[in-house]
Parts: sequence; C-alpha cells; structure tokens
Amino acid sequence: MLGGYAGKILRADLTREAVKISSLDEKKAEKFIGGKGLGAKILYDSVKPGIDPFSPENRLIFASGPLTASLAPSSARSTVVTKSPLTGIFLDTQFGGSFGVEMKLAGFDCVVIHGKAAQPTCLWIHDSSAEFLDASGLWGKGCFETEGRLKKRLGDGAKVASIGPAGEGLVRYACITFERYRQAGRGGAGAVMGAKNLKAMVVQGAGKIRVANSKGLKEAVKAANERIKNNHFTPLRRRYGTPLWVAPVNSAALLPTRNFSTGVFEGADRISGETMKDKIVKKDGACYNCPIACWKYVCVDSGKYIIDEFVGPEYETIALMGSNCGVDSIEDIAYANLLCDDFGLDTISTGNVIGFAMECYEKGLIGKEDTEGLELKFGNADAEIEMVQRIAFRKGLGNLLAEGVKSAASKIKKGSERFAMHVKGLELPGYDPRGAVGMALAYATSERGACHQRAWTVNAEIRGRLKPRYSVEGRAEFVKNAQDGRAMCFSLVLCDFMPFKTKHFVDLLNTATGFGLTENEYVEAGERIWNLTRLFNIREGMTRRDDTLPPRIMQEPLLDGVAKGQMVTKDMLDAMLDEYYALRGWNKNGIPTQKKLNELGLAA
Ligand code: SF4
Repeated sequence: MLGGYAGKILRADLTREAVKISSLDEKKAEKFIGGKGLGAKILYDSVKPGIDPFSPENRLIFASGPLTASLAPSSARSTVVTKSPLTGIFLDTQFGGSFGVEMKLAGFDCVVIHGKAAQPTCLWIHDSSAEFLDASGLWGKGCFETEGRLKKRLGDGAKVASIGPAGEGLVRYACITFERYRQAGRGGAGAVMGAKNLKAMVVQGAGKIRVANSKGLKEAVKAANERIKNNHFTPLRRRYGTPLWVAPVNSAALLPTRNFSTGVFEGADRISGETMKDKIVKKDGACYNCPIACWKYVCVDSGKYIIDEFVGPEYETIALMGSNCGVDSIEDIAYANLLCDDFGLDTISTGNVIGFAMECYEKGLIGKEDTEGLELKFGNADAEIEMVQRIAFRKGLGNLLAEGVKSAASKIKKGSERFAMHVKGLELPGYDPRGAVGMALAYATSERGACHQRAWTVNAEIRGRLKPRYSVEGRAEFVKNAQDGRAMCFSLVLCDFMPFKTKHFVDLLNTATGFGLTENEYVEAGERIWNLTRLFNIREGMTRRDDTLPPRIMQEPLLDGVAKGQMVTKDMLDAMLDEYYALRGWNKNGIPTQKKLNELGLAA
C-alpha cells in the first residue's frame, strides 16, 4: 500500500442507507494525488453532465490528501468537491481545523456521498465504518447548537461538519461549518448537503497512517518549518491574521467599497487588522499542526451585539461585509460574521449580495416595499445584520438574494446586471481587479468562478514584482503557474498560506508517499488537475465567453486613490486570455487541445 494514504474510500448512499468501502486506486492517487485532484476525478467520472446540483445524483465528496494527518505543517486541511448549485460548474472548497485528520484516522481518504435521505440524517464515521443517525431533532438548529448536541451524544473527541438553516433552505451559497470555526465557504456545498437531507457528518478515528520514508519526511518537515520561520509574512500573519491585508489593500485602492463602486474606503482604519487586534482580539489559535497560527479569537462585551468568543473575521469577511457594505465597525462585522457561521452562509457571497442590494436600494431600483421597511443603505450595519438573517431563512428580499447576485440581478433588472459583481455566478471576493490586473485574469479563468485562491497576484502587483503596474504584461504566465501550483497545494492538502517553494512540496509528497516525482512531474500533475476541472466545466457548456468579468470592471474606471482612472477593458482581458490559452495549450475558445490532453494523460 502507498505511504501517506489510509487506502480506502467510503461511498455512502443516503437513499438506501447503504455504504460501500473500496480500496483506493493507487494509479489514480499517483495521477491525481488527493484532495481537490482526486475529488475532481471522482466527480468527473461519477456525475453525468447537465444534472441539477440539488439532485440525488450529485456527489458530495470529502477528500483528504497524502499529507493530511502527517507531520507536515498545516496538514489538517481537507477539501469538499461537488457540482456547485450557485454556478452549475465544478466546485472545490478547502477547510481547516482537524476534521480531515479524524476522517483519515477513521480509515478513509475520501467519503463520497450521493442519494437523498428520507429524513434529516447525520452520517457518523468511526473505526472504519459508518452509521446513519436520525437528525430530525437537529433540523432548524444553527451549526453551533448542532455541533454541541452531536458532541454530547457522540463524544467530545468527535469532529463535526454541519449545515445551518441556510443549507437546509438551499441558499445557493450556504457553507459547511466544521468544528464551529472553520468553513468550506464558497459555492454552496452546504446547500448540496441540505438537498441530500444531510444535516451533519461526524468523524472520529484512532488509526495510524504509514509514510514511505519517515526519516526523509522529518527532514522535509524541518526544511519546510525553517522556510516558514524565515518568511517575512509569518510574524505578521501570527500577529494580525489575514486582516493584516486591509490597510495595504486599501492603500493600493483595491478594497471593495460600496459594492465595488470604488477601491478606497474612508473607514479602513476602523476595520483594519491593527484595529481588530487592539479592540476585539483575545487570543490566537491554529489549525492542527500549523506553526503560523493565524486564527484570531474575538470577544465583544459591550454595545448592541455581544460576542462571547469565536474565531474571526478573516480579511475577506471584513472586505465584503465591511467596506463593501460601507460598514466601518469591526464589532458589527464580527457579529455579522458570527451569524453567517452559525446559519451556515459564505461571508464573501453574503457581503457581496448585500452590497449589491444596498446599491439597488440607493439607486431606487428597489424600495421599502421590497425591504419591508428596512433602510437598506450603505453603512447601515443593523440593516446588514437583519439581511443576513433574512437570507438565511429566505424571508422577503432575502429569498431573492439567497439565489446569488447573478440571479437576483436577472430578476431585479433595470440595469442592475451592470453592477452584479460575479464571474460565472460566483460573487467577487475582496480585491478590486481594476487596480491589480492579474486578478482580472485570475477571476475570469478560475474554475469555480471569481476566486482569489487559485491565483493571487495582489502582492506581486502592489510590491512591483509584476510590472509595469496596471499592465497585462506577464499576468498570463503568473496566473497559469499559480493556478497549477495551487491545484497541487489543494490536492496534498496543505494551506495556501504556506510560503514554500516547489522543492518543499515535492520533498514532503515524495517522502510521505514514495512517488519519487521530479519537480517537473509535480508541476505537470498540477496542470493535469487544472485541465480536468476545465474539462468538467466545458462538459457543462462553459466556453470562452464565460471567462469574463462584470461590466463594472470593464467599463467604469476606479474613482479614487492611487489606481484612480484604472479599469480592465475588454481588449485587455482578451489579450490576457489569448496569451493564457496559448500557454495552457488550449485553443482560441479555451478548450484543451488533443495534444495537451495526450501530454497530460487525460485523453478519453
Ligand atoms: S496558516 Fe492559518 S489557516 Fe493556514 S493552516 Fe495555519 S492556522 Fe490554519
């Protein structure tokens, strides 16, 4: 058996309450590694094109990687893969904590769920087996209460993944909450769980994972930890967590503000990482086996919204639920974040759709008759918090917004499509691409829609590593290489904050598994995984015309700050796409050529 893997895949059929356990296909593991890659392969092979993501035929795949539960730093992370109900295309979403570790120690590299349970159900996985538990009494409960009750019943060591009312109500950007504080956030995996009547999945394991070369792995881990220690971002991440980015992103005029109408927020100082640390952070925390420890436990003990203790908010939440909605109170943002985590909502999409609704309200495209009297103006934190609840429970306007910004704009019409900020249906995250041109290409070509985690050019652009500034030059190559690298990082599965060079990843992977990949073969595996997700999307009908940007980005220049006057025109995007497709070995329509598929071992 391969080192680094548990060696088994569990398939759970919710309709028949049956499980099947099979051996991991070692050839597939070597080709697609684990996590995102292996999940993508299983999804591609088992889901017929055109199915409704809410149908029982859709798969919900929890996938760990060969480094999950190993000594490697950040080896806690795992992946959920499914067909997204928000975009109708491929979705993978990573999460931290230690759920994936327990799943692997319980005996499984992947858990593949299909069908639909007759009643609310909890899948309880332990000791190389699984049980279906009645979860009717938990339906309607938030994620926090659900987790508390399941731990009481199954033991404190059990790790819980659950959905809240948003997932139950099929809000298309419902997330899965893991161990209270970690989320598989983007694209609606929580709604797929809801459609399957799966309220929760609980795992606990006591097994051991053998690695191919334990001495070699220890050395690779030592080198990786040294790299983390010497990276200049490590102390900043430890001190402020991801909110460290609020100030520099605002200075570069990229901070989404009032539904991306500008990139400079006058209240940025009040929501920065420094302010958050001073005002509400109480202690730090970390995912299993991570020396960076970027979690920030926050506490608010006065004012309108009290928070006992929880982890958050991250940079993305601050950008979308803060500046993007004109909200400048870090305490209010933290409370909106807490509600999203408990109800099971992705904070990025939620902040984005509320910002959109606020702009519709301010422009008079919707009125008090639509908001049931709510003054849905930018900067109104009470209105934002109320809208979070209405979206989660699909009340009034919340029901429309629960379908996502693309769908909401198509119903509201009146020109609102121009400022519906999404790509392929996935709402834009926290960087305005007009001031960082590479992000425009990253969003346009991301396999799951507008995403900052597939390729992140922001630091390279604002620090002058990618020059000239505001140019298309060099962006295609940077984005392609980053996407392939991240595809591997999310397949191993490690955290994308690890500042490793390719050699570190390769040494960790080879010593754990015994694969013996060269650096070139490692990079090629990332390219293979990226191309497989592209094939999935093409099979669902996506073409070059979907690799695009919201009209606001291509037609309205930025209003303020150092990037004032910048936009990414259609010509600029086309130039980057032509170069990017050529580098990828795809044709002008963005379809991988037969030659490329042969090279990557993906030919049918
Ligand atoms: S850097 Fe932060 S998110 Fe990443 S593994 Fe470490 S603690 Fe978790």
